Amino acid sequence: MRLIICIAIILNLQGVCFGWVHLRELRGEYYKSHLTYKIFNDRQIDYCIQLSDRSWNEDSLDIQIVMAIETWLTSNPDFFAMHVAINKVGCDDPNMDLQVLIGKDDERWQLGAFQSATKIGTHYFSRIQIISDFQWKDNGTGKIYFFQNFMELSPAFDSHFLEEISIKGKATLEQVAKNSDVDYFQIFWSTYRVLLHELGHSFGLGDTYTPEIDKSGDREFRSEKHPSSMMNDSNYFYITDDDKDGIKSLILRFGQIKTHPQ
Ligand SMILES: [Zn+2]
Repeated sequence: MRLIICIAIILNLQGVCFGWVHLRELRGEYYKSHLTYKIFNDRQIDYCIQLSDRSWNEDSLDIQIVMAIETWLTSNPDFFAMHVAINKVGCDDPNMDLQVLIGKDDERWQLGAFQSATKIGTHYFSRIQIISDFQWKDNGTGKIYFFQNFMELSPAFDSHFLEEISIKGKATLEQVAKNSDVDYFQIFWSTYRVLLHELGHSFGLGDTYTPEIDKSGDREFRSEKHPSSMMNDSNYFYITDDDKDGIKSLILRFGQIKTHPQ
């Protein structure tokens, strides 16, 4: 197996040893919407927040978005070495790369949260949408869960705590639930966990669980193995080795592409 891994890396073969998968949408013009491309293009990520419900606290969401982006960036030395600037902009800014939108969606509410590669005119960006009226029922207990602001689940969940579970240290959802005495599913259906997972899509990675891996994943840029990871069962506040391999493969695939002024 070690030999196969080495050969795969040397020859840059995709889909031999790793668990990651690239989104199929990267094949067309929508590769321009994804953050891997944006980072190599201008070394910065300009994000905006759009809340349709004032009960969500924008300041704490801001902290979570920046920490989630930094978690992905610092997990990979190739990105880390580039010093990527993270800036907050208005959602009508022509340079906006990432829009985080929290609100209702009558058509797609059952999806809970999702990423869409978006194009408006000639402006390409990634949109992460969290559906504020989404509900999930635990059939075991009958309890119903809604999306909640992670930082409001416990007074201990401040910015230092986020850094501790994602960047300085590594924590799973189970560990955080147990140590903080907060219901696991409340943590699962909370903003920080969702932002970390959806940002993986914003960078260009697909879900590695079935059947989603076949629905939106690219068969030529994937592996046959699908270990537990951020993009699989989303049980992590840190980037797993499999997710890191996925980002590396995206860098190899898209790192050299630059835009040209039109
Ligand atoms: Zn997903």
